[in-house]
Amino acid sequence: MARVNLDGKPITPITICLIGGAGFIGSHLCEKLMAESTHKAIVIDVSSEKINHLLEKSSTWIGRIEFHQMNIKNDSRLETLIKASDLTINLAAICTPADYNTRPLDTIYSNFIDALPVIKYCTENKKRLIHFSTCEVYGKTIGSFFPEDHRKDPKYFLLKEDVTPCIFGPVEKQRWSYACAKQMTDRLIYAESAENGLNYTIVRPYNWIGPRMDFIPGVDGPSDGVPRVLACFSNNLLRGEPLKLVDGGKSLRTFCYIKDAIEAVMLMIDNPDRANGYIFNVGSPDNELSVKQLAELMMEVYAKVSGVPASSLTTLDVSSEDFYGKGYDDSDKRVPDLTIITKQLGWKPKTPLHELLETTLTYQHKTYSHSIKKELSKPST
Ligand code: NAD
Ligand code: UDP
Repeated sequence: MARVNLDGKPITPITICLIGGAGFIGSHLCEKLMAESTHKAIVIDVSSEKINHLLEKSSTWIGRIEFHQMNIKNDSRLETLIKASDLTINLAAICTPADYNTRPLDTIYSNFIDALPVIKYCTENKKRLIHFSTCEVYGKTIGSFFPEDHRKDPKYFLLKEDVTPCIFGPVEKQRWSYACAKQMTDRLIYAESAENGLNYTIVRPYNWIGPRMDFIPGVDGPSDGVPRVLACFSNNLLRGEPLKLVDGGKSLRTFCYIKDAIEAVMLMIDNPDRANGYIFNVGSPDNELSVKQLAELMMEVYAKVSGVPASSLTTLDVSSEDFYGKGYDDSDKRVPDLTIITKQLGWKPKTPLHELLETTLTYQHKTYSHSIKKELSKPST
């Protein structure tokens, strides 16, 4: 039976160009597009590792997905592929905090300069763009500047797309290079729409997590690499090391299960009349906890899914300067207001924290514990 959109109109198959489409979010989006839609995917990325399972010749969707190995910084095929598509989804970015203060130039180029041709080609060729921004563009909450007892009022912390200001630290705190570059890209897209009629949707993910996120250092990524917190803590758990709490782990985050989030992106794809011209927060406001509480919950869940005794798992406080180097700073709290996405697309997250961590840590254990055991049993040289 033909799928219909939220207004009851049949969804006609389109061609989607997914730039950075073989990363964590892209791989889940491609899986969903292949399994549940008739859209065609043109995937651009520097590596296909996370979508190789979708590119197998025997799959039922063969012919509906193609992969182009390329770096968008310097490849003239980009415009041709955008032109060949009805919709472009731009996910390409350097988006791991450990890079923001140690590789600020790469971070700014990746999140601002490299997005410029994508926006230009979409505007010039009258193609729709769904661009991935970040919740980090809001920076610190207003409440973070007030005494503790004032911070509880949602008006000082709830992040609203069309109301909340973007508050970053000083330039020497290079942590904000990513947020600032992303914000500039959002502003450029908004201006292209206002002045030149670009059809856009901007997505602001709030700590989407799940299987295939980032890498485990020394297994499928560099041994000295520092991924985002889910992979850092998974790595510590898999190796039986203490989970490192940066500056005591007091920052707060809301974690959203990747599969819930991908449903929001699918609604944006299939309902252009409801999504064009909007910026959407996509997150799980009810899944809020401090990084320290996250570590404790991950230890509890990992003990259950791996059989490792909970008593052997611990945490260790580290300073942000020791962990990330000079210029690190942090977002204190990130709670999305979901009014706009609920009204436009009827989307709400479903998966509670405990359940999403159980699924994700079961995957991490199954995927990595064998290689890590083998590595740890090798005599050290
Ligand atoms: P990811 O690192 O897994 O995916 C990004 C992909 O882009 C990678 O596969 C990478 O190889 C590719 N890429 C980067 N530069 C490229 C280039 N020059 N040419 C071709 N490919 C390139 O990260 P993700 O979590 O999937 O994030 C996707 C987008 O969502 C990013 O824009 C990120 O800033 C944004 N975002 C994600 C989250 C989250 O919760 N995961 C939160 C905030 C924002
Ligand atoms: N963090 C931590 N230990 C780690 C990795 C990260 O305490 O091993 C903290 C980090 O300082 C931040 C939070 O976890 O406060 C989330 O970090 P992540 O890298 O996932 O990205 P962010 O949410 O800051 O964009």
